[in-house]
Amino acid sequence: MLVPNKNYADLKDSYLFFNISGKVKEYSEKHPDDHILRLGIGDVSLPLCDTVIESLHKGVDDQSVKERFHGYMPEVGADFLREKIKAYYGKRNVVLDADEVFVSSGASDELGDILDLFDRSNSALVIEPADPAYVDANIIAGRKIVHLESGRADNFLPMPDEKLSADILYICSPNNPTGAVYTKEGLKAWVDYANRHGSVILFDAAYEAFIEEDRPHSIFEIEGARTCAIEICSLSKTAGFTGTRLGYTVIPKDLVREGMSLNKMWVRNRTTKTNGVSYIIQRGGEAVFTDEGQKQIKENIKVYKDNAKVLMKALDEIGIWYCGGKNAPYIWLECPDKMGSWEFFDLLLNKLQIVGTPGEGFGKCGEGFFRFSTFGDPADTIEAARRLKTLL
Ligand SMILES: *Cc1c(COP(=O)(O)O)cnc(C)c1O
Repeated sequence: MLVPNKNYADLKDSYLFFNISGKVKEYSEKHPDDHILRLGIGDVSLPLCDTVIESLHKGVDDQSVKERFHGYMPEVGADFLREKIKAYYGKRNVVLDADEVFVSSGASDELGDILDLFDRSNSALVIEPADPAYVDANIIAGRKIVHLESGRADNFLPMPDEKLSADILYICSPNNPTGAVYTKEGLKAWVDYANRHGSVILFDAAYEAFIEEDRPHSIFEIEGARTCAIEICSLSKTAGFTGTRLGYTVIPKDLVREGMSLNKMWVRNRTTKTNGVSYIIQRGGEAVFTDEGQKQIKENIKVYKDNAKVLMKALDEIGIWYCGGKNAPYIWLECPDKMGSWEFFDLLLNKLQIVGTPGEGFGKCGEGFFRFSTFGDPADTIEAARRLKTLL
């Protein structure tokens, strides 16, 4: 008889987005004429930029001609794309070898798959509030989870503590859901901790392109990171690839544990478990790293940043505490009048027809907080800001 992975029974049911859509559906059935303003989504709303579309079309055409046709792609990524990503890091003075870059189908896939590199006896530290997937992927693997709670006192950017003991350290900066982003000094403290303890940082850089202040975009801007970190990145939020699927992962050759190179292990893993990412999609991704591509994706990001400004201004006017918005597409606010996350959700939906995401869905310490996404429609965001001001 097959024995299933019983760790699945330890997963908590994920009610967050199910509950949100249930409540929104119920409201719209009762009030079919109301226009609901959706600030809950963690998905982009603007289409791919022109240069990416052109490059995708060219990729399709290549596949129609014998001389330019591509069959299986290298499992670790096409050279043309690995070189472009290497050069992208080079612009920030991060020197990589092209074979330290692995092309992936997206950050979520990698964040789950990469755990193949680690023994099950390792513990995983998750800074909360956090994307629930970090915790769930480790529960499935049967790992012990160390929950490190953050809050207003540390601006949702906790520092390592020598009393903590963990082997895998998740750091997401800029953060989903809080929008908080570590300084160089903050990340240096984590890198030093990891090197002292032999831990490995999994650095989720999905939102690096939203950074506008002087903060590290990559963990490899920090001295010492090459011996303790893996960076997982994605074109999803950067360039609107959520439905197109493309990401990349950086594993330095200096990352070695018990004589084993994690870079070599990952090559072995990819060649065993994948057959590479679609040629066409990699051609589309290549366009993101050209000068024209960078210019065009920044135009899209600016639309989201303008949304953020509108919402931040409204929150300032009504005196609600928040963080994020500046270097990230999320605004994380404290629910007014000591309301609970779901209580505030109900109030916004029923009174103002605004949908956001209750902080409690990102871990216990998210209770009492609330996330607005700035990926929504600009006209709806302006209207949401107007309605928010009536809360005063
Ligand atoms: C959206 C997001 C990603 C990107 O995931 P993809 O699988 O590449 O679409 C990664 N990490 C976090 C925290 C995110 O919110």
